[in-house]
Amino acid sequence: MNKYEILKTYFGYDSFRGAQEILIDQILSGRDVLGIMPTGAGKSLCYQIPALMLDGITLVISPLISLMKDQVGSLNQAGIHAAYLNSSLTPGQYRKALSYARQGRYPIIYVAPERLLTPEFLDFARNARISMVAVDEAHCVSQWGQDFRPGYLRIADFIRELPARPVVSAFTATATREVRDDILELLDLRDPAVTSTGFDRGNLYFAVETPRDRYGAVKGYIEEHSGESGIVYCLTRKQVDEVCGHLIRDGFPATRYHAGLSDEERRKNQEDFIYDRAPLMVATNAFGMGIDKSNVRFVLHYGMPKNIESYYQEAGRAGRDGEPAECILYYSGQDVITNRLFIENNRDNLELDPETAELVRGRDLDRLKKMTFYCCTNECLRDYILRYFGEYGSNYCGNCANCRKEFETAEVTEAARIMIGCVKACGQRYGINVILDTVRGAETEKLRQYRMTENPCFGSLSRVPAYRLRQIMNHLLLNGYLETTDGSYSVVKLTERSEDVLCGAETVTMKMAKEPERRPGKAR
Ligand code: ADP
Ligand code: ZN
Repeated sequence: MNKYEILKTYFGYDSFRGAQEILIDQILSGRDVLGIMPTGAGKSLCYQIPALMLDGITLVISPLISLMKDQVGSLNQAGIHAAYLNSSLTPGQYRKALSYARQGRYPIIYVAPERLLTPEFLDFARNARISMVAVDEAHCVSQWGQDFRPGYLRIADFIRELPARPVVSAFTATATREVRDDILELLDLRDPAVTSTGFDRGNLYFAVETPRDRYGAVKGYIEEHSGESGIVYCLTRKQVDEVCGHLIRDGFPATRYHAGLSDEERRKNQEDFIYDRAPLMVATNAFGMGIDKSNVRFVLHYGMPKNIESYYQEAGRAGRDGEPAECILYYSGQDVITNRLFIENNRDNLELDPETAELVRGRDLDRLKKMTFYCCTNECLRDYILRYFGEYGSNYCGNCANCRKEFETAEVTEAARIMIGCVKACGQRYGINVILDTVRGAETEKLRQYRMTENPCFGSLSRVPAYRLRQIMNHLLLNGYLETTDGSYSVVKLTERSEDVLCGAETVTMKMAKEPERRPGKAR
């Protein structure tokens, strides 16, 4: 049977979706592959179909027993012989499954990574014809990922033990650059074809706003979209209670969800939302897993989440029906501090050894920085997200606030030189706000104490509005003219590019909104 016949006969589908066919063809041509697709895109078919076409056995490595059971169950139902080998089997069942496997009954065998190097399994694998090893949830091999599984590190060793090297295919939904590089290296993929697709959600409009009155902005938005269903994500339970309380007081049909509520209240509120008895949900990130409400028209973030992965997952709950929907993040500089505190006090990390905990902390701060850049960039927001996930965007999507805003390109070399000069003159010792206050010439007690009032750049940019100064600073940080350290107090430092600006070798230009921080056509 060819791949189309298999798709139809066993899986009941008429055509492939997204990158499925590309990945299948690459595997069949004998090439290692890494497939990066969001959850629900259909990764399993990409290895299950080749598994049925290759001579020999495909081993699928999967991290969760429940996942294996589900998959094997549905394959068996479709008339495909498959089995799983993991700790849920009794020793007797395990031996029996292995002996059937030896007889060649199963073209597809799911196995837990911890089993691979056990003598019994290794003996089987060495004497069988293993044509492919498919690694599901491949990000588990990376300590950068959210679900590191040490067992995944043994996969490459296992493959080296086999008499003939099988094709190795790896699949994941998380693919930042670090995770992707780890997968390629730690799974020892050979000349792999890397395919990353399907992260774009064209019907979603993205915007970042920095209103002075956040609640007012949220309320204004909801008023303009009355009758629509939406989610307001907050950073803390306290915020959820406040925002939800205010919305109800102001006459909106809102309900709430967070981990501090009783099971009973959570269940009830969730149902009220799903059945549109309360079409507005105010919630922490605890809300949303497994909820498939198709008519959510907007997701507002009352504060910046801790990383792009979380943001995109939460924002992605809007517009499941494919109709236009909006994702608006209300950002304030305070969010960075709140998130830093979350990271510093992350209780999950307390159980790690100090070295790993430090690594995880650094990784989380790095992700937070990239999230912060999203809130500051004047470039296409969709493009920023897609690039974060390793996909190539177009630089212009036409459906985000930045693409719709009118910009002018401004030369800011002089201001850049003054800010960089200020950082240099103070010995790279202070944070963003001190630098901005200095060039602005703020006569504060703090600056006097730091002797920044004596800095040669003190007051040099007093005529530039404060928000412009912040935009320029963000631009310098975003483009590596300056950088910040990751300590609990973040300090502005020079980079290689700083010197180029100071000595006049480089001019600095940036896109600036003509009418800053307002969405066109929306009064506030
Ligand atoms: P992932 O592992 O990427 O999260 P799955 O492999 O579980 O996704 O597939 C998600 C759903 O999409 C499943 O119900 C699957 O049967 C369905 N699906 C996969 N490929 C196709 C296709 N070509 N056409 C229609 N439905 C598909
Ligand atoms: Zn855009």
